[in-house]
Formats: sequence, C-alpha cells, structure tokens
Amino acid sequence: IKMKTLQGKMTGLGHTDVRPDLLLSFEEAEVILLEMDQFAVPMDASSSQAFDVYPRPPLSDSERAKAPLRPPIVTIMGHVDHGKTTLLDRLRSTSVAAGEAGGITQHIGAFSVPVGKKASSSSSGSQPRITFLDTPGHAAFSAMRSRGAQLTDIVVLVVAADDGVMPQTKEVIQVVDQLQSESRSSRASHGTVQLVVALNKVDKPEADVEKVKRDLLSAGVQLEDFGGDIPCVEISGKTGQGLDRLEETLLALSELAELRSEAVGAVEGLILESRVEKGRGNTATVLIKRGQVQVGDIIVAGTSFAKVKGLSDEGNRPQKSAGPGDAVLVMGWRSLPHAGDEVLGVVDQSGVGAELLAKKAVERRTRVEEQRKLSEDVVAVNEGRRIKAEEDEKRDREAFEQRQRAREARMQQAAGQGGANSAGTVDAVAAAATEEKQNAEAEDEMGAEARSKKQELRLVVKADFSGTVEAVLGAISGIGNADVCVKIVSSGVGEPNEGDIAMAQAVGKCEVIGFNVKPSKQILNLATKAHPTPVKVHCDSVIYRLMSHVSEQCAALLAPTV
Ligand code: GDP
Repeated sequence: IKMKTLQGKMTGLGHTDVRPDLLLSFEEAEVILLEMDQFAVPMDASSSQAFDVYPRPPLSDSERAKAPLRPPIVTIMGHVDHGKTTLLDRLRSTSVAAGEAGGITQHIGAFSVPVGKKASSSSSGSQPRITFLDTPGHAAFSAMRSRGAQLTDIVVLVVAADDGVMPQTKEVIQVVDQLQSESRSSRASHGTVQLVVALNKVDKPEADVEKVKRDLLSAGVQLEDFGGDIPCVEISGKTGQGLDRLEETLLALSELAELRSEAVGAVEGLILESRVEKGRGNTATVLIKRGQVQVGDIIVAGTSFAKVKGLSDEGNRPQKSAGPGDAVLVMGWRSLPHAGDEVLGVVDQSGVGAELLAKKAVERRTRVEEQRKLSEDVVAVNEGRRIKAEEDEKRDREAFEQRQRAREARMQQAAGQGGANSAGTVDAVAAAATEEKQNAEAEDEMGAEARSKKQELRLVVKADFSGTVEAVLGAISGIGNADVCVKIVSSGVGEPNEGDIAMAQAVGKCEVIGFNVKPSKQILNLATKAHPTPVKVHCDSVIYRLMSHVSEQCAALLAPTV
C-alpha cells in the first residue's frame, strides 16, 4: 500500500506520529491492518508478540485432490413469505427422522440431511450429506460476509411460483453476484458460491412457473432451461413435492465443485450462534470447515476459548467428534464467543501447553480489540470536535458579518443625514469611521488580552501501550477553548513512576494522567508529598471518563480563584 494511504489510516486511528521511519509494534500494525480488512501474519512466529493461534496454510492443489469430499453448506434465501421456513422445517424433519430415535430437534443454527442412498445404519460414514444453515437471512451470514469469510457453498433462492421476482429476490441475486465476483478476484482457496433456484408453491393453482422463469431471466438469472448454468427445481415445501430433486441437485453441484477438506488435524470453522444454556453453561455452534474437533480439545474463537466438555448435534445427540460440514454445539466455553468468529483448534507446538497458549492468545486479542475500540472512540470524538469547531467558526463568521453590516448601515445612515450638506456628510462619515475603528481596536485589544491570559492545563500522560498513548494524546489534545488549552509535558508507556512525578513537580501546575495503568501506593504517596504543592495523579480505563476529567480540570482552571 502507498505510504500516504497508510499514514491517512493511522491518522484516522488517532496516531499523531506518522513519520515514515516510525517502528510499529505488531499489535499496532494489526489494528491498522484490521481497519483495512486485512490480517497481520507475523513473519517470526516464535516471537512473543505473535503468541496466538493461526489457521494452517491452505491446501495445495495436489493435497486438496487427495482430501476427502465434504458436505456442501447451503443457505436458503428469498423474499418474505415465499416459503423459506416451511422448506427448512421439512428438510429438518428428514434430518431428525433419519437420526436415532429419541432426538429432540434443537435449533443450533444448522442441520445435516442425509441424501441419496436410503439412510442405512447411521454408522456408515459414506452416506452423502448436505448441511443447511437453519435461519433464513442468518445474522451470522452478514457478520461473516463483512469479514470476508465464506460461509456457504450454495445459495438456494426460494421464489414463490404464485408471486414471482420480488425486491428481496433481486437482493439475493445481487448478493450472490457480489460473492462470486469477490471470490474470483481474491483467488481464494475456496470455490465460488453457487446459485440454485427453488420455484416453490407449485402445488398452488395460481402458480405460473413459466412466467416466473422469464422474470428470473430478465433479472439476470441464467437458468438452465434457457441455456444458462443455474439449475431450477420446482418444489412445494408444503407437500414435499420435488424435495428429493432439490437435494439431488445440491449434491450433484457439490460433487462437481469437488468440495474437499481434510477431516483430521486442528479444527477450523466459524461460530454460527452462541448462548448460555441451563445446565450446560456457555454453548456455541461451530460450523466446521476443516479438521476435526473432539471432546477435550482446546479451541479459540475470537476473544473466547474452550476446553471442549461436550459436543452435540441438532438432534441433541452427544458426539465424540465432528468434522468438515458438520455443525456441532460445543460446550465448555470460558466466555461466549460471537457469531461470525473464526474457530481454530489449538495445537501446542511451543510446549507451553495448549490451554495456556489459548489463554494468552485470547488475552492478546482482547487487548488488540480494546485498542481498536479505543481508536474508534477517538475517531468519533475527533469527528465530533471537528464538527463543533466548524460550527463555532460559522457562528463567529456570521456574527462578524452581522457587525460589518450594522457598521455599514450606520455609515450609510450618517452619510444620509449629511445629505443636504456635503461637508457635513464627510464629517459624519469620518466620525462614524473613527468610531468603528476604535471599536474594532478595542475588540482586538480584548482578544489579545484574553490570549495572553490563556491558561494551560499541563499534563504528563501514561498508558499501557504505545498505541494507546497515541490514542489518548489524540483524544485529549483538542480539549479546551479560547481561554484554556491542554499542554502535554511528556508522555510514555507504563504506570506513572517517580520520574513522572518529578517532572510534574518541576513543571508546576501539572497533573499526571494514566490510561489503563495503575500507580503504585508508593508513587501516590510521593505525589501527595510533592513540594510545594501535591501532584495530582488520575488514572482511568475508560477513555470518555479520562477525557471528561481533563475537561473538568480545564474548566477548574478558569473558575474564579478565591
Ligand atoms: P418465509 O417468510 O419465506 O419463511 O415463508 P414461510 O415458510 O413462512 O411461508 C409463508 C406462507 O406460505 C405460509 O403460510 C406457508 O404455509 C405458505 N407456504 C410455504 N410453502 C408453501 C408451498 O409450497 N405451498 C403452499 N401452498 N404454501 C406454502
């Protein structure tokens, strides 16, 4: 990327130092990259800053060819009332019926349906399956889309044959179009998403299949019937008609796309949804894209991690392990992960233990996340300030123009009064002009006086990371007005120390503020004993509170002293 672009991003995030020779920490770089929807990968994975869990490198073409086929992941989309829920319910009932008796369906975000050869004994692992995401317009779908993660292999666009192409139908067509062009341009390791049309409600007498197909064609969907490559299956979610064909079509498409993925090794997947369940604690559904998860594994997802206590499927049946294409409910999370979080199995290569590695990774990610939020806050606050400054300027300009107009009016009036006597006119105008000049000078003088009396709130700023220091400086540097301003005497990383107190003492009328750091008792003692006046030390971990503290201190400087 261009240096200018990078500097622009950094400034936007609150960095005040954007010199080309500035050395960024890994964490700072990561925050900046996240802003650009990129992920930082450390070159030196053994460095302590890179203490995190990363996905395995993508498979090479030859490795992929050897990996087993995995079930396709299918999302059902379409216009409201066109029958998505009905279709999902019917498909799900197949899934539950195919399982062992006793299973009670549970919405976990997805379910798998066996297809083709009649479900024989469930122990035969070769039965082809299809995994359906079970909430139309799944929240996780948009969350993941915005992170560039591909969640689905096939989108089934449900169109009611008695209603035709509607606004949301067109939206789905657009979304799929966009996903397809994204995956083409990103040379992604995964294949592109495919579209299948399900013409629903064909049991209804009003259904007009041919008309809807023509509508779809004019909406840009190249159906097979018209020489294109998009399959169209006529179904009825209500009667079940055509569902076999739909499943076969999905399976055929996935076989053609050769969706392959390793069924062993550290798990990689995505969180579909998470919740606290009575008796089970924190649970989350993981949609597995690669590898395997087993009871006892350590896995991380975003800023959460789990030592897997138990796994269960959509029929509430306990599982020992789960692999590609499976959606499993995972128990044992220390905190609730978020929908859309990337799930990674932790393999202990460094010898510190998988659990410790997970804990450290999560700590680090939490810090990065906090920094990112902080930067966002600062950007918001700065934007607010910019707007306010613009408004102030506009108001000042208007007031000035108004004075100017009043002045001109007075001068004209004076000129008018002297209309009969030209010498008088000149005198009156001259007098008016002199008066105005005097007024203006008086105003200027007052301004100069005010400026000379401008108060300074002197500050020593400390924070937990260099990125945070920059952010805090960015956030507080603009506080103040025409009469008072903030002056940063020094800034640095770490808790307030003796040097900071000494500095504040030396400068005089100077306060030490800290963000996400805590002064020791010893330092606080030292501060209160400072001579001639105690040094104030104020620390906070909420940027807004710290900023309002600084504002209050500024205001206090202006308050009349008794
Ligand atoms: P969604 O909003 O897309 O999830 O649509 P629903 O599944 O809730 O269906 C909307 C309405 O259409 C409901 O009253 C369904 O009973 C009805 N419906 C769904 N599929 C069919 C179908 O294949 N045939 C008929 N006749 N009605 C259907």
